[in-house]
Amino acid sequence: MIYKRSSALFAEAQKVIPGGVNSPVRAFKAVGGTPIFVEKAKGAYLYDADGNKLIDFINSWGPMILGHAYPKVVNAVVEKAQKGTSFGMPTEVETEIASLAVSMVPNIDKIRFVNSGTEACMSAIRLARGFTGKDKFIKFAGCYHGHSDSFLIQAGSGAVTFGTPNSPGVTQGTAKDTLLARYNDLQNVADLISENKDEIAAIILEPIAGNMGCIPPVEGFLEGLRKLCDENQILLIFDEVMTGFRLARGGAQELLTVKADIVTFGKVIGGGLPVGAFAARGEIMNCLAPEGPVYQAGTLSGNPLAMAAGLAMLTELNSKPEIFNSINAKTEYLHKGLTEALSENGVAHTINRIGSMISVHFSETPVVDFETATLAAKGDAFKKFFHGMLNEGIYIAPSAYETWFLCDALTYTDLDKTVEACRKVSKMFK
Ligand code: PMP
Repeated sequence: MIYKRSSALFAEAQKVIPGGVNSPVRAFKAVGGTPIFVEKAKGAYLYDADGNKLIDFINSWGPMILGHAYPKVVNAVVEKAQKGTSFGMPTEVETEIASLAVSMVPNIDKIRFVNSGTEACMSAIRLARGFTGKDKFIKFAGCYHGHSDSFLIQAGSGAVTFGTPNSPGVTQGTAKDTLLARYNDLQNVADLISENKDEIAAIILEPIAGNMGCIPPVEGFLEGLRKLCDENQILLIFDEVMTGFRLARGGAQELLTVKADIVTFGKVIGGGLPVGAFAARGEIMNCLAPEGPVYQAGTLSGNPLAMAAGLAMLTELNSKPEIFNSINAKTEYLHKGLTEALSENGVAHTINRIGSMISVHFSETPVVDFETATLAAKGDAFKKFFHGMLNEGIYIAPSAYETWFLCDALTYTDLDKTVEACRKVSKMFK
């Protein structure tokens, strides 16, 4: 494939934007080569600035679960835009999407909308601290909850891709209130709790990790966390920015039948517009200003275009729950095909998958936490795989620490093409 125009656009971008991108992983630094500048997208396909057509397995890092430029979402935004794009005043559509979200997700009574997943997680932690009167919280190595200071401690996703899981600019004072645990290691969490008795406000985690590649929770892990939280008056926060409205209507809480106290959202809930949200039972949410003392605000929060896109997306998912079965079946089919293609050619791998989140780790040992994910990401295997697939017109995330997100617009022909590409690339590993 030719990337002449993308290269030129990247050179121009680098003059005026740090690294040429507005979010680090987009720059292809971990895999090398030229980042692809996209011109437009429709359904499961991206069309880049050079006119190449790619099958998209990133889907804007999750939001486009129904595919790009989904007509009902696009029409909702266009219609709204004609009536004004922002007011900074309440609008009916905010209540409509809030009511729908609350009806779809278990254990939440109220929800507040913000502009990104980062804001949602940052606000959830402040709310948990305000509600419990405690300062510390536990996060897991390799989990990513956005780029706010207190989360950039052994963070996954772009932070680890660029070797800076602990970012300069985060003060020791902030870092000391973030306690780090190993994902899938309940004893580690229990130890931290007993070492910090009555000081921990919350445990935050991705109920299915997606930012160190896909890593599902081992049996009993989430249930064990729930129990530890109940015994120690700690709030359990599920960061469902990736999993919410993707794995099931009610997200990971519904799929895995474990109850969280606070849930954060992003990605799908905004239908591709900049939206995040956090939600909990009324008793907790009523601590927020103006009802309570915990401050949180936003000039563009509840923006009408964003709410219209989110409402159209959630309405579609709510009224057609078969979408979840369809997309899960497609991902299972892909899982099987990739396993066969890699195994046939003797490529060491472990594929982790839940629902429509899947990732290929280039290691035969099980990948269950940040340490094992890092081991699998070592070496050139991922880089080779990424560029090989791209050359075949298959666009996966340009980092070993990311998950593939499928969209329901993918056809079985697209999946067959993807498996064939994987077979061809696997042969080059020999
Ligand atoms: N939490 C999780 C689990 C995420 O995957 C992300 C982003 N990938 C965030 C939080 C941050 O969301 P945003 O990029 O919208 O700020």
